[in-house]
Amino acid sequence: PAGPRLISGPGCPVCVTPGREVEKAIRLACEPGVLLFCFPDMLRVPGACGSLETARATRGARVRTIYSPIEALEFAAGEPGRKAVIFGVGFETTIPIFASVLRRARERGIRNLFLLPAFKLLPPGLAALLSRPGIGVDGLILPGNVTAVIGADAYRFIAARHRLPGVVAGFETSDILRAVLMLLEMIADGEPRILNEYTRFSDDRGNAAALAAVREVFAPRDSVWRGLGTVPGSGLGLNEAYAAFDAGTLLDGEVPPVPDPPGCICGDVIVGAREPEECTLFGGRCTPSRPAGACMVSGEGACAAHYLYGGGAA
Ligand code: SF4
Repeated sequence: PAGPRLISGPGCPVCVTPGREVEKAIRLACEPGVLLFCFPDMLRVPGACGSLETARATRGARVRTIYSPIEALEFAAGEPGRKAVIFGVGFETTIPIFASVLRRARERGIRNLFLLPAFKLLPPGLAALLSRPGIGVDGLILPGNVTAVIGADAYRFIAARHRLPGVVAGFETSDILRAVLMLLEMIADGEPRILNEYTRFSDDRGNAAALAAVREVFAPRDSVWRGLGTVPGSGLGLNEAYAAFDAGTLLDGEVPPVPDPPGCICGDVIVGAREPEECTLFGGRCTPSRPAGACMVSGEGACAAHYLYGGGAA
């Protein structure tokens, strides 16, 4: 039929990480003897007074970007007199590599490697999103990369409890088109189920070795999402055996919550309540080259995608 509308939510890992976690990372990066490691996108997410990038330029923060936390492990092994802190951001796709790095660090007796865990678990986040009043969606396209780790069974509650269909999809154009078709067929049949279009890389059960590594190192805990607030069991903390790697022990004092910049509606965009173009900063004071809010930072962010593909860049 004419008119299916695709809405982005509940945000990419960069979008959902609240400013308070960024502020913790900035404070750690300013501690004597600390070098902070983060993924490149996290450099530009706003904290209380600027981003890691501006803190590096103006406050003497020591920050190095990485593409894998293994780089931080090797730095720590080679520089035992310095503290290497990894800013751990990501969904289930990314978390196993962090678990693997901490397991290796423990085996090698490395004591100067620390982790600031700001991970997010998708099923509790989706449950929180779908429990919002007036959410107004008819079906979900579910991420194939996360599903490769956790398995499609993790989403069965969406059909059982919320009576909504879902399709696990890959990231090619044909994947998305097929997922939309499968959703429309289920909606037309009135039979909400969870189907998997991405069977070339994901199945119902997920990756048992990756899940076991995550369970060994981490335990679920409540976590704050931009847009959703505190979501029970949607984050991860370190298990007791790995508590020595907790970067929180290096922080002096509490870091208060950090509001989004004035005018930014990232929270509403993340939950699909408003479109990026409804933000008064969109395309003016907020662009991918100069992001004011978190959803404009990463290419996966809803505002960046709208800017690049929805005409904002024209
Ligand atoms: Fe936030 Fe920028 Fe999006 Fe506005 S346009 S909601 S400031 S990221």
